[in-house]
Amino acid sequence: MNVWRRLSGPRRGLALAGAGVLVAGGLVTIPVTAAQAATQCDVAYSTNDWPGGFTANVTIKNLGDPINGWTLGWTFPNSSQRVQQGWSAEFSQSGSQVTARSLSYNGNLATGASTSIGFNGAWSGSNPKPTSFTLNGVVCNGGTTNPTTVPPTTVPPTTVPPTTVPPTTVPPTTVPPTTTPPGQKVDNPYAGVPGYVNPEWKAKANAEPGGSRVSNNPTAVWLDRIAAINGTPNSSSNGAFGVREHLDEALRQGAGYIQFVIYNLPGRDCSALSSNGELGPNELPKYKAEYIDPIAAIQADSKYRNLRIINVIEIDSLPNIVTNTSGQPGGTVMCDTVKANGAYVNGVGYALAKLGAIGNVYNYIDAGHHGWLGWDSNFGPTADILKTAAVASGSTVNNVHGFITNTANYSALTEPYFKVTDNVNGQTVRQSKWIDWNFYVDELSFAQAFRTKLISVGFNSNIGMLIDTSRNGWGGSARPTGPGATTSVDTYVNGGRIDRRAHAGNWCNQAGAGLGERPRANPATGIDAYVWVKPPGESDGSSKEIPNNEGKGFDRMCDPTYGGNARNGNNPSGALPDAPISGAWFSAQFQELMRNAYPAL
Ligand code: BGC
Repeated sequence: MNVWRRLSGPRRGLALAGAGVLVAGGLVTIPVTAAQAATQCDVAYSTNDWPGGFTANVTIKNLGDPINGWTLGWTFPNSSQRVQQGWSAEFSQSGSQVTARSLSYNGNLATGASTSIGFNGAWSGSNPKPTSFTLNGVVCNGGTTNPTTVPPTTVPPTTVPPTTVPPTTVPPTTVPPTTTPPGQKVDNPYAGVPGYVNPEWKAKANAEPGGSRVSNNPTAVWLDRIAAINGTPNSSSNGAFGVREHLDEALRQGAGYIQFVIYNLPGRDCSALSSNGELGPNELPKYKAEYIDPIAAIQADSKYRNLRIINVIEIDSLPNIVTNTSGQPGGTVMCDTVKANGAYVNGVGYALAKLGAIGNVYNYIDAGHHGWLGWDSNFGPTADILKTAAVASGSTVNNVHGFITNTANYSALTEPYFKVTDNVNGQTVRQSKWIDWNFYVDELSFAQAFRTKLISVGFNSNIGMLIDTSRNGWGGSARPTGPGATTSVDTYVNGGRIDRRAHAGNWCNQAGAGLGERPRANPATGIDAYVWVKPPGESDGSSKEIPNNEGKGFDRMCDPTYGGNARNGNNPSGALPDAPISGAWFSAQFQELMRNAYPAL
């Protein structure tokens, strides 16, 4: 991580892109009455078909006694028909036989109650509807015992005439073969479900005195190198769990969502040194084939279809090629290179397209933070490049569920004791040293405004923002309790600000920081969640050169003796001493983060 630069409704209903061109496969209502009167039911099975694929909706109506947990079964008539990814039930398929089991929240069906489930499937040749269903093991065969429960218009399944397909059906040939089946993406994947607690991070936190007070919080799993896909027991960061082990463990925990960080672009971290990655700037093909493709293949496994898989896409990358190219103060040639060769834009586009195609996967792109992008010179151009990347490599904006700000940074969520519109003795606080003409003084106001900007450049109006609050608490005894003195704009801002950094461009292992808001959904307008993406206690970079074979360099912004550079107004780095390389456990920092937590622990 590096980071800074200045100088100078249902929100997402179904991702029904292209739904209008799907072939309506017709609806057939199949009366299903169990041999036992106690389990009478009615099943409606409808599909939208396109060449090779379909989405099915299945509604089960209980016409018998109340049911506590159900298992629905059917046999596909055609051996090519497959359930690929389902929702609202636990699906399994053996040969042509499909089983759908109720989940904890939809197993109880009172008499007369209905529940709907669905899935995306595949077919070749033809896609006929199943002709009978079983409920709780009882073969149901079409209204043999209680015909009065069958709606009179119901067409028996074996005689479904082809005319049940609406005449407006679009011929299959007009459907582009690349049409992605509509995913069942929810408005806010964080809402209403528990998050995955990474047991590897939890163990490190629990090993610290007092760590168990916070170790049950969900944190993100960083896929910071190709090897992390299968697990990196020998790395300083992460551990033996690969993507599959984390997903399996998430199922075991009964988690509703899990967060990954996609972080391995060619020429990664182009403006800093502490998190340079393993891929050179020209290794985009390797990034696609050996990093994104295998991750997508695992995330698409239907075993995980009921998990909301959240990917945070490529921290710092796109803002860096706006603000840190070599013509700018502190800019680098590496940022020029990855800007010129399209590695970042095309890599992000590829990741979005591949991962976004999976119905239960949610992409949030990194969008810097207020102390980096809050000036007009950076704000609009960054929104534009995010849009460019979102439609690169075959992607569309529909692959973007939202954005995240403040990832692994320390910017305060809110500054309670001053506003950007305040004046002191007739002067705007924007001209204070700390604010330095920024238009935003905290992350919440920035994230909300940037969301509006992103929508204006073409992102969907239902995008949501995340804010990484893992280390922006700024509590403890140094936290101000009221506004600063009105002697000058500087006394006013410096006396009242809760962000205690020497400069908002400081980003490495900041002394005095504390744990911020605990992860939670829907905390404010436009914000999907406060999240802990940077796992607290993991270093941002070593405070001195530490030889390693993990590609991690030494950035002097992590050295507490460093007096700074143009990018942080030549201020001290503010970093804690004795830090290990980025990603490695930093016990002293974890202890301080707990001490300075706000809200306090
Ligand atoms: C490091 C990664 C690490 C991540 C989370 C990054 O700065 O480069 O190796 O996994 O932080 O701690």
